[in-house]
Amino acid sequence: MVSKELPFTKTQIEEIVKRHPTPFHIYDEKAIRDNAEDMKRAFSVVNGFKEFFAVKALPNPYILKILKEHGFGADCSSLPELLLAEKAGITGEDIMFSSNDTPAEEFIKAKELGAIINLDDISHIDVLEKAAGLPDVICFRYNPGPLKGGNEIIGKPEESKYGFTREQLFEGYEILKKKGVKRFGLHTMVASNELNVDYFVETARILFEAAVEISEKVGIDFEFINLGGGIGIPYRPEQERVSFDAIAAGVKKAYENTIIKAGMRQPKVYFECGRVITGPYGYLITEVRHLKHIYKDYAGTDACMANLMRPGVYGAYHHITVLGKEKDPANHKYDVTGSLCENNDKFAIDRMLPKIERGDLLAIHDTGAHGYAMGFNYNGKLRSAELLLRNGGSVFKIRNAETVDDYFTTLDLDGLKSFK
Ligand SMILES: *Cc1c(COP(=O)(O)O)cnc(C)c1O
Repeated sequence: MVSKELPFTKTQIEEIVKRHPTPFHIYDEKAIRDNAEDMKRAFSVVNGFKEFFAVKALPNPYILKILKEHGFGADCSSLPELLLAEKAGITGEDIMFSSNDTPAEEFIKAKELGAIINLDDISHIDVLEKAAGLPDVICFRYNPGPLKGGNEIIGKPEESKYGFTREQLFEGYEILKKKGVKRFGLHTMVASNELNVDYFVETARILFEAAVEISEKVGIDFEFINLGGGIGIPYRPEQERVSFDAIAAGVKKAYENTIIKAGMRQPKVYFECGRVITGPYGYLITEVRHLKHIYKDYAGTDACMANLMRPGVYGAYHHITVLGKEKDPANHKYDVTGSLCENNDKFAIDRMLPKIERGDLLAIHDTGAHGYAMGFNYNGKLRSAELLLRNGGSVFKIRNAETVDDYFTTLDLDGLKSFK
């Protein structure tokens, strides 16, 4: 069981709403910082541990700046994400550039920033060399294929588009060695929202074993091994948090049984998690605009899938608290809906909640990763503001809500006037 208590009260949110209209995402800074420290503490038993926050989970430079203060780097996958990291003061080898289907200009920017470039395919060695020249350090993304069982969200590795096959790894490092590259990394990313500790320990073992074999056959040393992201979070109250300590202990043991046993140079161990770093510490605050009683009961909110699309797209569970009614019995069944002309625009289906009235404020939990980030403008919906709840209860706006003017910025309306 995990507590779904809120870091704010109804009164606090009512005050905030006076200055920042709903809907908005609000992130709990203290909880993000405490969690970052907890991760660092737990993984300090692992050689050279470092976390590169996967920017795509919560692409906001204020959040990146907070995480940088805790020693985290940034894992970027596109030019705008590289620029976000740069704006937050994260540069050089504090950036992991793990992209796929990468355009040449992104390789050029990554190289310019001195980022660690993580290649998704053997053919990209050539593309990178021609576009930007080979950097000092290069990492390859490994797709272990049938060696690794599937994960529900990311699917079976052998059916996934990512990474090098095992044979290609040997060939690829051989090529790099011949071309004079001196520093090497090995990476994989085979899980998403995985709550099973053993899954990560097994992934680590597969990577460490591959590193030992490649080191011996190709005659190179690995500077680091990047275990990817994918650590899940308990969206449902009956689920448990993944223990960082348990993963760290398992990874340490796997490291000893492979790398240390082989007597090779000891690579550092990296993670590039997104969801587990910020996911539980964000809340979408929305007001109930209408109540509708037809064949079922609907609570229509002023938010929609454009603010949080995980429930609509994956059927994902997000806990909902009716503010001020935390202690009331959950004896009414609702579909909690958004305003999009799409019937899957529902934050919850058949959810037992306290009796809702128009104007009630809802907190939709666990929106700190892949919430705002997955937003879109379909149906003319505008993205919301993002707020930071600071220590002591003050609120700082870290992103403005989109306006209708923003929606029109990409349109040439003068051109439209003369268009026939
Ligand atoms: C999405 C992604 C991550 C982060 O995944 P989480 O599930 O948020 O931890 C890390 N690395 C790569 C390459 C990714 O695509």
